[in-house]
Amino acid sequence: MNFWFITGSQFLYGEETLIQVEKNSREIAGFLNEKLPFAVEYSSIVKTEAGAFELIKRANFDSECAGVIVYCHTFSPSKMWISALKSLQKPYLHLHTQYNRAIDNNAIDMDYMNLHQSAHGDREHGFIAARLNIAREIVSGHYKDADVIAQIENWQRASTGAAFSRTLKIARFGDNMREVAVTEGDKVEAQLKFGWQVNTYGVGGLVEETGAVSQSEIAEKMTEYCEKYEFKTDNLDSVREQARMEIAMRKILDRENCRAFTNTFEDLYGMEQLPGLATQNLMAQGFGYGGEGDWKTSALVAIAKSMSDKPSSFMEDYTYDYDAGLILGAHMLEVCPTIAADEGKPQVEVHALGIGGKNPPARLVFEGIAGLATCASLVDMGGRFRLIVQDVECVRPINSYPNLPVARVMWKPAPDLKTSAAAWICAGGAHHTVLSYGVSADMWRVWARIMEIEFVHLNAETNLHTLERELEFGGLLWKLKN
Ligand code: MN
Repeated sequence: MNFWFITGSQFLYGEETLIQVEKNSREIAGFLNEKLPFAVEYSSIVKTEAGAFELIKRANFDSECAGVIVYCHTFSPSKMWISALKSLQKPYLHLHTQYNRAIDNNAIDMDYMNLHQSAHGDREHGFIAARLNIAREIVSGHYKDADVIAQIENWQRASTGAAFSRTLKIARFGDNMREVAVTEGDKVEAQLKFGWQVNTYGVGGLVEETGAVSQSEIAEKMTEYCEKYEFKTDNLDSVREQARMEIAMRKILDRENCRAFTNTFEDLYGMEQLPGLATQNLMAQGFGYGGEGDWKTSALVAIAKSMSDKPSSFMEDYTYDYDAGLILGAHMLEVCPTIAADEGKPQVEVHALGIGGKNPPARLVFEGIAGLATCASLVDMGGRFRLIVQDVECVRPINSYPNLPVARVMWKPAPDLKTSAAAWICAGGAHHTVLSYGVSADMWRVWARIMEIEFVHLNAETNLHTLERELEFGGLLWKLKN
């Protein structure tokens, strides 16, 4: 994936100025290319209406181009950008910067003024995007400043998440858990907005594939489990069954080109166990997962993993410790071992599930790492999707909880447990989330803007009454938009 660096200018100032504009632009693009995680490629100087349109047409159909960065070194009359920006289908960042950081006392003369005029050139460019009302990210400041680089990085990551989203296929092994509301959603709208292909694959097909897995394939997977995890069980048959299911699911996911999947304990006909360890090990390989048929959260887990190399997992708010002001997050089985704390390996344990009526499944048990993170939930409000993101601080679990048979994480939500929980409920957030140590709220905000969906951020500033008003006005706004 790469990002195109486009400079706006015009013919007004003569050839010499344009040569300098190109030289400086190449230098800025080169600097950004070195500092950012994804390549920034100098593209060209836009001087005409036709030039702008042709360039954006090429960007739209270049599958390697993940977004365009536009900067106006000089004035670049914006009527010539209308057709280009109206047709733009890639994420768009307006970088409002300047080649020189300061004004040199002696260097400044009229030629200097003609060359270094993004202060008004970028305002002209910004106006037309505001008038066209197109989704954009504006980053302002000298291009060498660390905060400017960090904001561009956020946008780059959100943009690659958007590109990943637009090709994402999600396999549903069985339907949603019966009667559950929040995991439902409009799959046609999801494909329109996010590009997701959400399709069902019969559990019978998975059972057949599971039956076809060879003993040598299982042995190889067991060796992998032994290297990565510590066995705290004698029930190796249960672990082998998880290995068999993982191999079978992986074969189907690869065959169908799916990077995310769901299943449900209510639809396991012909299966011996609910996949636990199998799902956890797949998530660790970058696959998205959502329990109980939750395809929205599954897709979001895969997208979070595509945006950042830092750990992300499927998560569920499980139970509270009001004394400590903490939430204990876990799931029936499926927490991603990438979020496991460093010391010791995650442990393979086998316990009965209590629901679903199947054999006791093997699962990984561990404690999550401490650190700043976000919990994100995507809900279908009818006519629009809403992404709710909560700032949290994960802490090491305050007790050992020796009888808890699943992986666990504890966190303090901002501004505090009571306010956060009320605000989350007010916004309609689900019990299922993506817990991510790499995708910040700001990165999710940029992603939501690119996807053109509603974004709600709960943080240290959150006030319940203000939030209620924000949601009320947001509701009206989205009715007008649709
Ligand atoms: Mn659940």
